[in-house]
This record gives sequence, C-alpha cells and structure tokens, in this order.
Amino acid sequence: MTRASQSIHEASIALLDWLDREVTAAGRGDDLKFSREDPSRRFWLGRLAPEETVQVTGMGARGERLDPCAVGLRLVPESSLPWTLRATVSMVAWIKNEDDQADEDQQWVKLPTVIRDIDCQLDMGQHEAPFGQKVLAEALAEIGATGLSAEVRLEMDVHAGQTELVVTLVNTSPDVQQSDLDCTHLFETTLEVRRIATRPFVLERLPDGYRYDRSVPALGINAGVRAFDGLLATTDTVPVDKGRPDYWNSDAPRPDLEFKTLADDPLPQLELLMDALTAWNDQHWGDELQARAAAEYWDGATRDQAAKDRADVLAEQARLRSGLDLLAAPDNHLLLRAFKAMNASMSHATRGKYPGWRAFQVGFLLGSLRFLVEPEEETEVVDTVWFATGGGKTETYLGLVVMTAFYDRLTGKTTGVTAWSRFPLRMLSLQQTQRFADALAGAELEKRRQKIVGAPFSLGFFVGEGGTPNRLKLEPKENEPSVFDENMPGHYQVLLECPFCFSSEVEMGFDRATWRLVHQCKDADCPWPNSALPFYVVDEEVYRFLPTVVIGTLDKAASISMQAAMRGLVGPPLGLCAGEGHGYTYAPRYEKPKGCLVPGCTSSSRDLPQNKDRFAPRLRLQDELHLLRDSLGAVDAHYESVLDHLQGELSTTRAKVVASSATLQGYDRQVDVLYQRTGRVFPQPGPSASASFWTRQTPSLLRRYVAVAPRGLTLEFVNDRTVSVVQSSVRKLVDPETRQAVLDEAGIGPTHVNQLISLYGTTVVYGSTLYDVEASLRSLDSNVDVVPLRSAMLTGGTDFDEVREILHELENPQDDFNERIHVIAASSMLSHGVDIARLNVMVMLGLPLTTAEFIQTTARTGRTFPGLVYVLHKIARERDAGTFRQFSTFVSQGDRFVEPIPITRRSRRILGLTMPGIVEARRLHLLEPRAPGQRLTTIAKLREYLTMLGYQTSGEAAIIGDLLGFEDELDVLLEADLEQWLRTWDANLKDHAFTGKYPNELSPTGGVMISLRDVEESAPIHD
Ligand SMILES: [Zn+2]
Ligand SMILES: [Zn+2]
Repeated sequence: MTRASQSIHEASIALLDWLDREVTAAGRGDDLKFSREDPSRRFWLGRLAPEETVQVTGMGARGERLDPCAVGLRLVPESSLPWTLRATVSMVAWIKNEDDQADEDQQWVKLPTVIRDIDCQLDMGQHEAPFGQKVLAEALAEIGATGLSAEVRLEMDVHAGQTELVVTLVNTSPDVQQSDLDCTHLFETTLEVRRIATRPFVLERLPDGYRYDRSVPALGINAGVRAFDGLLATTDTVPVDKGRPDYWNSDAPRPDLEFKTLADDPLPQLELLMDALTAWNDQHWGDELQARAAAEYWDGATRDQAAKDRADVLAEQARLRSGLDLLAAPDNHLLLRAFKAMNASMSHATRGKYPGWRAFQVGFLLGSLRFLVEPEEETEVVDTVWFATGGGKTETYLGLVVMTAFYDRLTGKTTGVTAWSRFPLRMLSLQQTQRFADALAGAELEKRRQKIVGAPFSLGFFVGEGGTPNRLKLEPKENEPSVFDENMPGHYQVLLECPFCFSSEVEMGFDRATWRLVHQCKDADCPWPNSALPFYVVDEEVYRFLPTVVIGTLDKAASISMQAAMRGLVGPPLGLCAGEGHGYTYAPRYEKPKGCLVPGCTSSSRDLPQNKDRFAPRLRLQDELHLLRDSLGAVDAHYESVLDHLQGELSTTRAKVVASSATLQGYDRQVDVLYQRTGRVFPQPGPSASASFWTRQTPSLLRRYVAVAPRGLTLEFVNDRTVSVVQSSVRKLVDPETRQAVLDEAGIGPTHVNQLISLYGTTVVYGSTLYDVEASLRSLDSNVDVVPLRSAMLTGGTDFDEVREILHELENPQDDFNERIHVIAASSMLSHGVDIARLNVMVMLGLPLTTAEFIQTTARTGRTFPGLVYVLHKIARERDAGTFRQFSTFVSQGDRFVEPIPITRRSRRILGLTMPGIVEARRLHLLEPRAPGQRLTTIAKLREYLTMLGYQTSGEAAIIGDLLGFEDELDVLLEADLEQWLRTWDANLKDHAFTGKYPNELSPTGGVMISLRDVEESAPIHD
C-alpha cells in the first residue's frame, strides 16, 4: 500500500494508532526529557508508588489499585515447583533539576532507562521470594537515583484448586517523606517474563460456555497482558479491537435482498435465503456441533444447553419458513401486496443510503408475518429484536411498521393508529423521529402511487416533560405556549427536513382554522400536496387525528389515567367532529361541550368512519427493553396491563408487542413481568459468540477499546489530559506548519486529511451520571489548555431546542475547525438513537452501571469509520477493577457479562403508586362512557352513579387483580392491599364530609402518576 492510494478506512486506522500512541506516551511520560511538574502529579500510566507509601495509606487493596506499588502477571505454570524464569525489568526515575538556572519547563529531569534481566527460581516448599534487589538498586544508583530500589517477587498462590504463579515488579524505595529524594516513584515500568512454560487460564465455565473462547494466556496485575513469541509482558493500557460485522455468513450465494427486487418479485429471493439458512443450520448445528462436543470434552450440562439452543434455532427456522409459506399462499395476496409495498417504500425511507436489507432484517420480517393474518396466538408472544447483532434495528422496526400500516389499509382500516412506538428515555431522539417520518412519507408516496384508499399515513410525536405542548389554549397562562406569539411555533420544530422531498426548507406555523401547530415544506417541488405535513407534535392533535404511527416516550402512558382522549390509543374515539379539520371527539367536558378538542368548537359530532374494532393499535413497540428495569419497569408493567385491559374492553383486539433489546439475559422473564406474554428473541445466537448464520465478525476494524486504570491521579485529571492530548494532536493535523510531520509519523497520505479532521476532531466525554458529566465539563473548561475549545453538553436535562441545534451542528460541522464543537459531554441520552458518523473518539468516565449501557454507548462511535474509546476505570470500585482484569473478554464477549434485568410486578410499594392511575383509567375509559349522557367528573356525580349501579369494591378488586395478573399464593398480600385500597377509596366516596371535589382525590395513596418516572429510579425493586 502506498500512502497516496490509502483508503479512508486505512488512513483512519493509521490516525487512530497514532492518536492512541500519543495519549499513552503522555500518560507514561515517554518522549520527555524534562518536566515542569512533579512527575508523580503528572503521569497516570506506567508509574509505581513505593510499597511503603501504599502501606502507610492503610487503604488495603483499594489503595494498592489507586496508586499501585507493583505490576505483574499471574500465570499457570505447566509443571510443578521448582519454577524458573527470566524476568526483564524496565523503568526510569525522575529527579529535580540541580541546575538553578534551569528553564521553568525543566524543573525535573528524567534519568536514562534501566533495563535488567533477572533470573528467578522458586523452589519446592517456598511460597514467596524476592529477586534482583541488588542488581536493580545498583542500576538505579548508576544512573543517578541512589536510594531508589525495586525487586521482582515470585509468589505461589493456590486459587480455586489451581496452583498459580504471581510475578510482580515492586517498587521497594522509601516513602518520599522518609527520603532525601524528591520523588521515589518509578516510571515507565514494564515487566516481561520468559523461559517458563505456562498453560492458559480458563475463565469460569457457564452452561452456554461452549459459545465462547474462555482461555486467556495470563492475568495482569494492575496491568494488561501482551503475549507473543513465548514471552508475556505487562502493558499499561489494555487495547481490544473489535471487527466490523458482516451480515452474510454463508457459502451460498447472497440472495438479492434489494428493496427494488423484493418490491417486485420477492418469493424466489426469500426461498434462496431460507435454503441458505437451512443448509447453514444443518451444518453448524448438526455434525459440526457433535464433533466439537467430543473434541472439547463437553460435560452433560453443556451438551444439554447446546441441545436446547439448537432446538431454539430450528424453531426459529421453522417459523421463518412458515412466514414465507404464508406470503406465498394465494389466499394471502393482500399480505404479499403489503410486503411488496413496504419494500417499495423503503428506498425512500432510507434515502437511498442502503439499496436493500441485511439478511437478518428480512429474517425478522418473515418471522413477523404470521401476526398479521393470524393474530390470536401471535399477540400472546413478544418478539424482541436482539440488536447486539448490529446495525439496522430501526429500519427493521420501520419495515414491520410500514408493512402493518399497508396491511391495515388494504384490509379496511382506513384511519387510526397502527403502531404506538415507545422509547424509554425522557427525550426522544430527533434523528429517530426523522427516520420514522421519512419511512411513513415513503409509504404514503407508494400508497398514492398504488391508489390505496384511506387517510394519509401520518406520524405523531408524543413525548412527555417539556418536549412539545400538550395543548394550545385559547387563553394561555403566562408560561404556556401561546398561539398569539408568532415565535411560538418555531420552538417546537421537530423535523429538520421534509420527509417527502428531504428539503431543509421546513417552516413552522400555526393554522388557526384547524388549530394546528404545523410543519410546512416550502420547497416548490415537494411531492406532498398540502401545506401542512402529516406530522403532529401537540398531544391533543395526536388525539384528534390518530396518526398511523405514534412515536414517543414511555412515560406518556401515564396520560391514560388523566386524559379521556387517550382512549384513541387503546380503542375507538367517540365520534368525528363536523368541523372541518377538527378530527375525532371524546368525552365532553366543560370547556369541550361537544367533546371536540378545538377550543370553542360547538359543532356536532358525527359517527365514526370505520368499524369501532379497527381503531385500537395493532402494534405496541418498545425500544430498548432492557432499560425497563427496577421501579420504572415495575410501574410500566402495571400500565401495560391497563393498556391491554382497556383495549380488550373497548375492542375485541389485542396489541402485538414488539421490542428491541441489548440483552438476552433473562429477557423471557422480563417480558413475562412487563407484558404477561411469552418472550421470543430474534435472531437466536449462533454456536459461537462471533458467528451465526446472520452475522460474523470481520478483521476490518470497527472500534478499538482502550482500558485505562489511572494510577495515582483522579479520573477527572486523566480525562482532562486525554482530551487535551487528543485535541492537540488533531490540531497538529489542522495546522499546515505541523501537518506534514504528523502525516509522516503516523504514516498517513495527504488525500483524506480534511475528512480525518472531521471524523476524529470531536471528542465525546461520556458519564453515566449527570454529576459526572457536569463535573467533567467544568474540569475540562478550566484545565484543558487547548484553545479554542468549544464544548457542549447533551443530557436528559438539555433543552429541546438546544439538542436539535447541537445535533444539527455535529452533523453539519463548520468549515473552520476552530468554530466547531470540539467536546461533547454526554450522558445516556446520547446512547439512544443518535447516529452521527463524526463521533469517533470517546472517553468514558468509569464503567456504566450496566453492560448493556456500555455496549450501547460505545456503539455511538465507529458508526461508519473506526472508533476509539478510552474506558477510564474507576479503579477503586470492585466492579471496575474486576472488569479491568478481564477487559478483553469483557469487550469480545460482552453479551455474557450482561446482567439479568431486575424487575417485578409484585411490589406493594409500586402498587400503591399505580393504583390511583388504574382506578382513574377505568373510570375515564370504561365507567364514564357506559354511563349514558353523564360526566363522571366530580365525586358527587360519581357517587350518585355508582350508588345507582350498586357498585361493590370486591368486584372492582377482582377485575384489577386479574388485569395485573395476581393469581397465586405469592400475591395474597398484594390482593389484600388492593382490596384495602379500594375499601378506603369507597369509604371516601361515600363520606359526604370528604373535602375533595374530583375523583382522583379519593385515592388513599396520593395522586395519579403524572409520568411513569415519578418514581425514585435508583431504588431497586424486588419480589
Ligand atoms: Zn417537501
Ligand atoms: Zn370541532
């Protein structure tokens, strides 16, 4: 390869290698001869504190990790004692410059490197012995560091029945307080071990362990391990490369899965796909597995697990096969038509970025087909897309949604919600929203082309907590959005581009006649004929127009207990307003006498335009299922039950739940708790962690993870320095004076310089808590000496407008590097749905709480080009220390480390929180609509009506207990709570002296939850 012909991918890797070298060198002090500061306050890698200093801190193992006095290796020798080996030690020392005239930058001087070979032998009966004290003390004295000392220690350790050898290099110098020297740390230390035969460590065996390579050559002690040519060496950081996945792993020719082909004549290609799948499974889950079981001496548990996994894979194959059979059946021509129309929409939806599907996406769609034609059984199963598989999750979702929308229209559902898609975070990513809008616009264009009847496909944006308005009032209060403020609409722009023509000439406006906050495309050539795009951002507009797809945050489910108009998301509205463009009507209220939500409307209500049964959504989608855990998961479990219950009462249908998740661990239990349905995951993992039929890892670099265990200095300091080094290094590439030197050093050709600067010029600092994010930004602003340094923050608390601007700027960087955003400090908000090819360098402040978050967050880098992620471990924490020790396994086998989701629906505390909402939802959506001509909006009216009905709390308790799935002896306490709750509620109702006015005040456990996040999130919930 000549540099001139280097591809951008190759150039990226060269840059990434160079950047990483620069950061590591800065951490160790390589390449320096002098220092302004005390080196023990400057370098965070390669240093060793004096053993005495570590002992006097009295912090034990934690103190030892914070500023270790030893580095080394843990080995399993092949033979028993005696053990002999050769250790090679390398280190430097720093002393104060004796030259009084020395420059400010030369206050400290580095002495020459000491390298010594030390032969060691541990004899029978010996447990521990030091070596090389004299040689190393003399070598240090020779270079001018008299008084410093070090030794190599060998120690035998029996661990879990295995005899192991620990070899360490220890700094035995005195504590600096007890010494004449100005610094008694050693620096740039490494230890190499050779001339001893060892066996690899085999990590803990789990039943599905047959999927993983569990052997590692040695374990590092305060260090990583490098093994080559019979030599084992410590490393300061632990770099782990992950290869880019390929989505075809079969010898059979790839079927043509282009959208165009599948829109035209899908069946032959789908047959080819099924053939390839069947052949692959036959081979890899058949004889090959048998052979492995024999060769690897699998135990009974492993064989059983493999047999079960194989059965799951074959069941999946059979399900896909039957999906294809359904598609091919003449009776199902509408299904085939919907499938084709969906494919015809997808090239618009993906803006031509991809010509077609990946095999696993088509596999998922095939597996989903049955629910459209035979929903009864299929709605009892939650299908989960397991996206550790790789990119394309959103498109897979969209394919399913669009196909379902077409099938709805073709089978007579001319209006109403097809899918309600929920995201677990406070704020929904605008990028994700745009992709949904693009997909529906593509579908609408295709629908028009095919002259399919029914309302235009449309999208509703339905988010909680300050995203977009709940309603626009005729007489707004001071802090409410005002229709009289002409700047108001601009604050709520969600789409940055027109989903029909992709023009960025999108303007916001308020249409008084239809009382709508509208996105308008101003492009003259736009194929969308109306001025307002079919995109709704105000909650009440979502109720009024019931868009084909509603996309929003999970917490909005809480509105089901507060809004009569939420009925449109679980069943039919009450009518359609005769007023032009007013939409559906709901329960009348004082301000909405006819049930129309347009302020002041007195028009009468007309009959619904289609069968009432067709209104309820067919699909409820849940993105990032693994985030529904602890209290949030427990609360949602109850609300999901309410949604199912209401839908069942208001129609004869049940929604299909489809989810995506980063984790496989315990998903079936999680799904059972949340939805009271059976879980099914797609795709089933393959027989090895790195390959299944659907995917395989290629050698092409996707992302390099570098584990850093900062020594002796704070995480903030190391973060500041890492960002400084990365930023100043990139600037050397920007500066024409220094550029050529960088290109030469890094081995990069000149062709791609500007692109590289763009791809690696923005550093993401990721903190898993808001506190970490804010602290890091403050620290960066005051401690990073690179100027200019523009930083921005992206967290759940960042204003809606601001998020939009930051993301837009990141995607469309300024021409002048100095004007760009250089640092993004982000929380988990970034991990979801943000897809920006320019974010390729990340610094993580400690391991996130869960492995799923780690996988997901780091996946923000390397979207298109190789990414570099520094994982700064909070090494005092046990969990971070444990992960650092097995970092390479942690990265390559992340799925194994994913913790099962803690979740239950059986929490008495949670029941107290959700009961007010459950009872209110039943009053709003079932009781009131069944009370002819009455509004049960006050306690007095409700009392009167229930007395007339002869209402009994026992009946209500049975219904609620049933909908929540309380059924066995475990639930006795919950059932008692439930009955007691209702009795108190009933007593309040009947008490004429009760001071409240509205029914929601009758609750004995406080008000209705405003958001599903009203609950203390960090508190874990257990059965
Ligand atoms: Zn347009
Ligand atoms: Zn009206």
